[in-house]
Amino acid sequence: MEPIQVMGVQGLPLIHKGDNIAAMICDRVPVQEGDILCVASTIYSKARGYTKPLSAITPSERAVRLGKLNGEDPRFVQAVLDASTDIIMEHPFILSELAFGHVGVRAGVDQSNIEDGMVIFLPPDPMKAADDLRQEIKKISGSEAGVIITDTCGRSFRRGQTGNAIGWSGFSAIRDFRGDTDLFGHVLKITEEAVVDEIAGFANFVMGESNNGVPAVIFRNCPRWSEHNNLYFTSTEDITKKVLKKEMSQ
Ligand code: GDP
Ligand code: MN
Ligand code: MN
Repeated sequence: MEPIQVMGVQGLPLIHKGDNIAAMICDRVPVQEGDILCVASTIYSKARGYTKPLSAITPSERAVRLGKLNGEDPRFVQAVLDASTDIIMEHPFILSELAFGHVGVRAGVDQSNIEDGMVIFLPPDPMKAADDLRQEIKKISGSEAGVIITDTCGRSFRRGQTGNAIGWSGFSAIRDFRGDTDLFGHVLKITEEAVVDEIAGFANFVMGESNNGVPAVIFRNCPRWSEHNNLYFTSTEDITKKVLKKEMSQ
């Protein structure tokens, strides 16, 4: 097997509304058949205009209350509430679910890597975002590449943020090992590997979080996989969410 290559896309400018990020990436790195392109959600959102000035946001009573409780600008809190379909926890930070199934701290709303006084929302439909990018790349380069839209996310139980896949296209999210046998012939009963998150995690490492200016990463020669796309727990499966919601209602 060829060694896996991981390449940060260097030299991209600051992204603005209307920019064609697929073309800008293909201009800098020739995308090849079978590549996996990871794109930071932040540049997809900036290119599509999923941003807002805080000055255009009027906070509700709830946003004012949570702003005081958590020491945050109530207009920022309102942006988080607007991006959420279900608030799971209010304090010490808002943890909420978004329409596309992702659960995240502050609904993934960012105030970094954009001008002062602006917020960046996650793309409202990141699966479609990934699919659109994959098709644009196919048009430009002629190559069939997979795409993962990433975001840096907090996590339970362990300190430190990691990159997660919030949208993907060209492969499935999960490689299912259930039914496989291990080296000793034991049948695996539980293991489903969230491959898109593993790749997003390493892409996030190459991107960095601050002023690196590397919002896209290409993986070459990855082994193929394909199983299923059910990355998000259903509400009956998600025991953590159930416990947190019970806690909040007390
Ligand atoms: P997020 O993880 O999607 O929220 O994005 P981050 O704000 O952590 O940024 C990820 C990477 O993209 C970092 O290397 C940033 O410096 C870089 N980045 C963010 N916005 C831009 C941009 O408009 N242009 C360029 N060239 N890099 C950017
Ligand atoms: Mn982010
Ligand atoms: Mn990040």
